[in-house]
Amino acid sequence: MTGKRMLLSFAHPDDETFGMGGVIAKYAQAGVEISLICSTDGDRGTIPSEFLEKHGSVGAVRVAELECAAHKLGIQRLFRFGYSDSGMMGTDNNHHPECLWQAKDEEVVSKIVAVIREVRPQVVVTFDEYGGYGHPDHIVMCRTTTKAFFAAGDAAQYPEAGPAYTPQKLYYMPAKKLMISLGIVRSFAQRQNPRKIGANRDLDLIAIYQNVPPTHTTIEVGEFLDIWDEANQCHASQWQAPPMRKWLRRRLFASQHFVRVSPKATRWARRETDFFAGVQ
Ligand SMILES: [Zn+2]
Repeated sequence: MTGKRMLLSFAHPDDETFGMGGVIAKYAQAGVEISLICSTDGDRGTIPSEFLEKHGSVGAVRVAELECAAHKLGIQRLFRFGYSDSGMMGTDNNHHPECLWQAKDEEVVSKIVAVIREVRPQVVVTFDEYGGYGHPDHIVMCRTTTKAFFAAGDAAQYPEAGPAYTPQKLYYMPAKKLMISLGIVRSFAQRQNPRKIGANRDLDLIAIYQNVPPTHTTIEVGEFLDIWDEANQCHASQWQAPPMRKWLRRRLFASQHFVRVSPKATRWARRETDFFAGVQ
């Protein structure tokens, strides 16, 4: 072990893998202890009926898939908060009393602070403010994780959540701009409206593209694409390989870009290539 620890704070089983599986595998193999918060069981996801027969509920299927992916990628500790999935923005599920969207910020922040103080990560990664593709649960996790990141080191805040600990770096994981632009081009080619994409017509590619923030950190993951793919297969009820040739996909996914939120990146700073650069 290197003494390096990283906490990922996400919302659904698959956010970790589809979002940054290659990066997780890379750091795990380098000896970084990786912990993951998954605040819901993803129980509003749509899954093919054959998956339900084995596990009984959508949430159970997705948690089993998460455990498979965590094992493949080398995630060592998993913290599930058990909120109900809020569904896409504007759907009835947003109003469910048990869903993350309805939870009080204080309550969620307190849970994340407790994990930060227990795990003691130097690096924390969560969604960007738009929530990647705009999912309400992603937006909540960005907001509450950011609050928790800055509160964890203050003993006066959330004293019930354990002794104070100050993490050093906070990153946001934005949507992949190149992939979104390819999706927009493809939707025009197929005479679809890029503002109404997906099985439920609830993805607005134009808005997603416009909300991708500037990034400061690039992590190369070319050597970890096979293991990333294996973890993708774990999430079989959700995984759809992008409709492109494998060599092209490998080129497009060989590096991944992140926003450095804290310490705040200046406009002129050199691009970072390691989350742990400058960590003490
Ligand atoms: Zn998600």
